Amino acid sequence: MYGNTFITKHEEGGFVSDFVLHTNGNLKYYTIDKFDKTGLVKHCFSTRCGGVSSGIYESLNLKLDSDDKRENVLANFKIICDEIDVNYRNLVFSNQVHDDKIYKADKKDIGKGIFRESDILGIDGLICGESRVPIVTFYADCVPLFFLDKENKAIGLSHSGWKGTVKKIAKKTIEAMMNEYGSKSEHILAAIGPSIGKCHFQVGDDVADVFLEVFGLEVLDKRDGKYHVDLKKAILMQFEEMGIPKNNIACADICTYCRSDLLFSHRATGGKRGGLAAIMELI
Ligand SMILES: [Zn+2]
Repeated sequence: MYGNTFITKHEEGGFVSDFVLHTNGNLKYYTIDKFDKTGLVKHCFSTRCGGVSSGIYESLNLKLDSDDKRENVLANFKIICDEIDVNYRNLVFSNQVHDDKIYKADKKDIGKGIFRESDILGIDGLICGESRVPIVTFYADCVPLFFLDKENKAIGLSHSGWKGTVKKIAKKTIEAMMNEYGSKSEHILAAIGPSIGKCHFQVGDDVADVFLEVFGLEVLDKRDGKYHVDLKKAILMQFEEMGIPKNNIACADICTYCRSDLLFSHRATGGKRGGLAAIMELI
């Protein structure tokens, strides 16, 4: 199903990174090894490589709501979706506002946000229990979360920026899957995708205070008098709180800011950037 594959794996913080970087010509994208092995989903996390856009959007820009040409963004969606064998005409988009609301998508939502006007508004997480309904969430530093209930066959994607992380959208997405699909924690695979690392996520004292209150000192680091937040750690704490087994968790050990050559980073570009996407559908 995938092109030539180069696998990057190394240990970080006790977790093995099992995001796999695939390369097919100029196109590069990630998949999650644990998810691939189930045979239940088609999915990816995009990079900025292998599209048709230029300038600040070079080149696989998946942000429709930008000054890039619509035809370019649609061409980019077709490129990445063809590669993972998903029909790009069926995509269902979130409409993210840095909140914690989750939407249950199904067949009636097909095409919303890309080819049809969407009523999925103010939504940062999508869950789905139907086949061939590809859900999509968007990123450029914020943390992409992927969920798969391999027993009851349900999926989830959620956008966990700092505000969503503080509102515990990871925990709320898992709860939504439990409520809607009867998912049990031991059957849920959970993954944390490429996003801004503690190395580059410097915050003001006000934001640091909020993280301290919700998650405690272990998510904060002080460097040169400034606080840095470890979003990944704050999300792992939510997975643990919900009883997700460590063996079910995958982390991408890559910082979007450090690798703004490969990934779009809001902070590294001062906001002049395209968008990355997480795409997933049940087969
Ligand atoms: Zn970094």
